[in-house]
Formats: sequence, structure tokens, C-alpha cells
Amino acid sequence: MGYQTTPEKINAIFSDLSKDFIIYAPKRFVGDGTFTDIDTIRYGEIADLSEIEFAEKSDYSFKEVLLPISETLFYFTENEIKESDVPQKGAIVFLRSCDLHGLKRMDTIYLENGAVDSYYKRLRDQTKFILIGCENSFENCFCVSMGTQKSDDYDAYIKVDGETVLVDSHWDLLDTALAGATPSSVIPDSVTANDTVVTISETVPQTLFDAPFWEDYGNRCIACGRCNFVCPTCTCFTMQDIFYTDNGKAGERRRVWASCHVDGYTDMAGGHAFRNDKGQRMRFKVMHKINDYKRRFGTHMCIGCGRCDDVCPEYISFANCINKLSDLVNDAAKEEI
Ligand code: SF4
Ligand code: SF4
Repeated sequence: MGYQTTPEKINAIFSDLSKDFIIYAPKRFVGDGTFTDIDTIRYGEIADLSEIEFAEKSDYSFKEVLLPISETLFYFTENEIKESDVPQKGAIVFLRSCDLHGLKRMDTIYLENGAVDSYYKRLRDQTKFILIGCENSFENCFCVSMGTQKSDDYDAYIKVDGETVLVDSHWDLLDTALAGATPSSVIPDSVTANDTVVTISETVPQTLFDAPFWEDYGNRCIACGRCNFVCPTCTCFTMQDIFYTDNGKAGERRRVWASCHVDGYTDMAGGHAFRNDKGQRMRFKVMHKINDYKRRFGTHMCIGCGRCDDVCPEYISFANCINKLSDLVNDAAKEEI
């Protein structure tokens, strides 16, 4: 149901909801970027609509709410294991349409890909999602090419327009809180075009897996992993057992974000590593995002947020890579004719 209300009313509702939920939204962290005069926009707790950065794309995605950067799974001693406590409060997350599609990719990986990941599920089950509309496209976005520019699978949509707030609610708790607000027809803002357009080939011939094309990325990529850490659909983690210094037989097991671009990701016992070459790592990531995942689950993994292009210190463009790969696929098809 749609409503027209005021920032004061929404902030009062947030205040009530904060007894049971932590509210996360993209916030501007002044001077917290790569250099001291650069801001960063990432997720943090908010109590007031004015704290939310609506005007710009966030540098980081919402995923750390459901997949913390470092998460203790359980504690252990010599004799017993105790699972970490379920957070007492749920979460409310403000996010854009592309990221809502990214949420579906995370759900597929953690909930529908064999055994259910209980640590993800226990956070996911108590999280609500509020859509932020996009009045315009941002640099490097290619959501329209990926079909992620719109979503109606939200618990609420909120748009702040001066002293007016437009809400479309799919959440009965919010409907109850907004009883008495002016009914309104609310349609979420979404873009119809991006400056960046990508074309993805349906299939990539095996010959292109070993093409010299990937060597360029091997020469340029510095294996920093930033592209993975900003990506809302990168879901890899590694395990760490931490042993306490005052009792070396007790400790905790944590899972920590991992990156397929970083050295050591494919290291195995015995010293073998599957992808020492950085070009091969790029190929692995690209093919996972736009080929392998779709073959298995029916949609592309990449949702076209463009954050990997925004953040790469070597100006490696994922979008350009996809388009160059498509050209190579077309060239290979012509040669076969
Ligand atoms: S691969 Fe890049 S554009 Fe695609 S979802 Fe990840 S960060 Fe966004
Ligand atoms: S951000 Fe760029 S340099 Fe860093 S790992 Fe990704 S592709 Fe390589």
C-alpha cells in the first residue's frame, strides 16, 4: 500500500522499530576513503533518514549485514562446542534494486545450493529490505543490460522528497505504523538506460578459456581483491581457527571474507595452487559471474552494479572485459562458418 508522509513520522517509526531491529543504510564517511580527502559510502547503522546517502551509489554493498566480514561460528574447548548466539535484534536494510537482485544470488548460494547455511539463514530470516529508487544511473552501472534495474520484491520502498516521504509498503508492521497517513500511489524510481552497456554471449567456447586475451589481465591485476570485496554477489569465505593465548586448547572458529583474486585462495595441502596466474583468476571470476552460474541456476550472477569497475586501482573494467569476450566469441563463431 502507498502512503505520503513526513520525515518526522518515518523517523518516529524508526525509533519504535529500533527496539527490535538495527537499521542499516549507505552512509557517507567523510575522509575515510583511499586518500584523506576522499569520502567513502558504505553501510552503517542509522537512526534518522537524514543519515542516509541517497544521492550517490555506495562503494560497498549491503552484503556484510548478512555475511559479516568476520563472523564467529562457534566456540570450542577440548570437550565441547558452543554455537555463537543468534543476534537478538533483526535488521532493516536500505538498498537499491540491483542489490536486491544481488540478495537473490546470495540466497541461491547459501540457501538453495545443497545444504542450507544456517548462519546465513538465521540473519536472513530476521531481515527486512527497503528499496531505494534510482532517479538516474551512476558511473559504471550496467543494471539495464543485466535486467536488474527494477524489483518489486521489497518489504518497503521509501523516497524522501524534501519534506515529503513517499512509501510503498509490503510489510504489515509498517502499514500499521502508517495508519492515518495519506494514501498515495507510489511507484519506485528506476532507470531505463545506463551509459555502460554490456553484451553477454550465451555460451563461451572452450578454446577461449585458454585465449591470450586473459594474459593482459595477468599483467595488470595486482591481486588486491578489492573487486571481490565490493561485489554484492561474491560469496566466498575462508575459515580461521583462533586459539586463545591464555588457554591454547580453547578458541573459536570464524569465517572471513575471501577473494578469488588474492594469492593463496586456491592453495592446497601439499603446496599445490590451481590458479597462480592472475589472468587465470580474472577468467575464473568472469566466467563464474556470466557463464557458469547461469548454467547452473538460470540467471547471471553479476547484477551490473559496476562497483568492481569503480574500485579497481588498475582501472580494469569488468564491463569492458565482458564486451571484449563477446567480440571474441562472435569472431570465433565467424571463423567456424
Ligand atoms: S561483478 Fe562487478 S558489476 Fe557484477 S555484481 Fe560484482 S561488483 Fe557488481
Ligand atoms: S580490483 Fe583490479 S587489481 Fe584488484 S584484484 Fe580486482 S581486478 Fe585485480
